[in-house]
Amino acid sequence: MPTGQTPADTLAKTASTAYDAALEVIGAVEPRIAAATRQELADQRSSLKLIASENYASPAVLLTMGTWFSDKYAEGTVGHRFYAGCQNVDTVESIAAEHARELFGAPYAYVQPHSGIDANLVAFWSILAHHVETPALERLGAKNVNELSEADWETLRHEFGNQRLLGMALDAGGHLTHGFRPNISGKMFHQQQYGTDPETGLLDYDVVRAKAKEFKPLVLIAGYSAYPRRVNFAKMREIADEVGATLMVDMAHFAGLVAGKVFTGDEDPVPFAHLTTTTTHKSLRGPRGGMVLAQEEFAADVDRGCPMVLGGPLSHVMAAKAVALAEARQPSFQTYAQAIADNAKSLAEGFLSRGANLVTGGTDNHIVLLDVSSFGLTGRQAESALLDAGVVTNRNSVPADPNGAWYTSGIRLGTPALTTRGFGADDFDRVADLMVDVLRNTQPGTTKAGGPSKATYALGDGVADRVRAASAEMLDAHPLYPGLDLA
Ligand code: PLP
Repeated sequence: MPTGQTPADTLAKTASTAYDAALEVIGAVEPRIAAATRQELADQRSSLKLIASENYASPAVLLTMGTWFSDKYAEGTVGHRFYAGCQNVDTVESIAAEHARELFGAPYAYVQPHSGIDANLVAFWSILAHHVETPALERLGAKNVNELSEADWETLRHEFGNQRLLGMALDAGGHLTHGFRPNISGKMFHQQQYGTDPETGLLDYDVVRAKAKEFKPLVLIAGYSAYPRRVNFAKMREIADEVGATLMVDMAHFAGLVAGKVFTGDEDPVPFAHLTTTTTHKSLRGPRGGMVLAQEEFAADVDRGCPMVLGGPLSHVMAAKAVALAEARQPSFQTYAQAIADNAKSLAEGFLSRGANLVTGGTDNHIVLLDVSSFGLTGRQAESALLDAGVVTNRNSVPADPNGAWYTSGIRLGTPALTTRGFGADDFDRVADLMVDVLRNTQPGTTKAGGPSKATYALGDGVADRVRAASAEMLDAHPLYPGLDLA
């Protein structure tokens, strides 16, 4: 190693060489894709990314995805495949699952789901298989559904379609797959939703309990996409047990905070949930993908996820999951996870001290949900004006949102990505300041007919340049992929 170089410098130099070579090979076939790939890095480097569901995976994770594992079909599970020649995929899948089990303290881990939605579908499938199909087959003395008479099969199909699911409402922060009617989850199940307290915006466990007692769901889902607070999963399990429900926790958003031991005890879902689903690319900082963690009783059903629910596993992504999970088992990941939560607090305080409104009045996870109606804007207008100034966010409904799910009244912000770049509490206070500058200087537009528009807006002269210049100082101080220099 040359003097003055750290191991990280050396690795960054090697990654630079690897990416240069890869882009040259790609560019020889389709130069526009190589150019777009370079441009994406430049754009990510030069903007303030506050999208709560995004992060920056390490070069090791990213490079793992670009290999010949992509070429291999491997339907089935480790040692039990529908294709020959899967010995290396078996190695990869076993290592990823082992890391997942040990990191989260889960009895069983299934690392095949291609995304978070797929992980949730596998969990639904497993619950239906466990609680509906298996008892019916036992009752009818059949080994599998192919052995059933037409009449018994018809009865079972009705039974599948008659199950109940209770999840968090979308506008309270739940996910589409938690029983939102337009989603498949709202169509597979009779569904009801629990919301948050209209005054405080907080989850009220007594209300969840009362709903569960009345509705008696087979599946109780906890977890969220846009709720800026922690959840007591011990209480959710208590409620599930009181009504005989299966508790499924979707920790897609906050898996990094669980992995990093910020959420422990009653806030760690894994010991309490029958099934815990997650994405691997949000706060967990891995490749795009999903996972299901399960208590032993569900393992055999979860294992049938592919090919019953999922297509062939993405072996290259499972390999990248293994690398990311190995990273998350390092002590430095716990420091990172704690910084995500500390930074979110600082961002929230930055808004509150400048007079902005936050749903629930703050945060104790990685999300800040800013209600932009006090600026006279819709979420759509705020999102667009912020993007003009180089601040990348996404609009989001607030509880009982008068502007609906398309225009919305909120902006959802998250700290995982900029925390990966090394932003600290002071930086996040500055980010709040810059965002308030943009929002105060944005005027809602009018429609062609002269009425108030929910989409158009006018950003004051010079504001975007001012904010971009101030952001550039922080972005330069905390470079994305430091040392990665592409030719
Ligand atoms: N579950 C929750 C709670 C999410 O927030 C998301 C993504 O936004 C998903 C599931 C779906 O993840 P994916 O986009 O990987 O399918």
